[in-house]
Amino acid sequence: MHSKRIVVKVGTNVMTNMNNRIVGPILKNLVRQIAYLYERDIITILVSSGSAIAGKEVLGGCSAEDKSTRRQIYSSVGQPRMMRHYYSMFHDFGMRCGQVLATKRDFAPGKYRENMINCYEGLLDEGIIPIANEDDAVSLSMSMFTDNDELASLVAELVNADMLLMLTDIDGLYTGHPEAEESKLLHHVRVHDNVEQYVQASEKGEGEGRGGMKSKLKIAKDTASKNIPTYIANGKNENIILDILEGKEVGTKFTI
Ligand code: GLU
Repeated sequence: MHSKRIVVKVGTNVMTNMNNRIVGPILKNLVRQIAYLYERDIITILVSSGSAIAGKEVLGGCSAEDKSTRRQIYSSVGQPRMMRHYYSMFHDFGMRCGQVLATKRDFAPGKYRENMINCYEGLLDEGIIPIANEDDAVSLSMSMFTDNDELASLVAELVNADMLLMLTDIDGLYTGHPEAEESKLLHHVRVHDNVEQYVQASEKGEGEGRGGMKSKLKIAKDTASKNIPTYIANGKNENIILDILEGKEVGTKFTI
């Protein structure tokens, strides 16, 4: 058993280019860092989006008129494609991974939750990397997460993670628009700090994914208040996971 466990959430905006295509080397780079940590007694639970965009890649278009049905179809086709990428990338590092899909219902106290804990603990005991995503093919309305940031936070709590890393395409929380010269990156936010005022200014639109900075800030604070240090950081930076674990001043860290 590894002595530390971390949850890494990767948004669609991290893994895609300007044409909304999944960039293999970005995924590979994340897997490389996870493999490096694995050898150093830290196991990662990966929360990966990408099913919808991967489905669009495969199908091109889809004739279903209803938006929810289209989302279900894209995700249903795209999720195995994502897992094919991860399966072969982890295999290249001599590692194994398993898929855990969930809807919001599964996290409510009761049997579903117990089953999920059992599954995560079983995988982690075996040294298998759990890869979580929302079960987009069946989760609609009531059973839907706000976004995968929410899922990642719930997973971090479920497995008693030592840390949550929310990787996006911005370096963290800024005091203004990320591209404005006078904006500063906030390196450390405590849960009671009043930083909500900065969110509007720091929003730059997040492409295909659902969660924006407003939701990230709320979730980062909620998770940190449960004594799980949480980071918002740029997943497109080559060594971001390792830099954070080595204590370098990157991203925005949230603590109690
Ligand atoms: N679960 C969705 C997917 O894999 C992404 C949700 C989100 O953007 O947070 O495509």
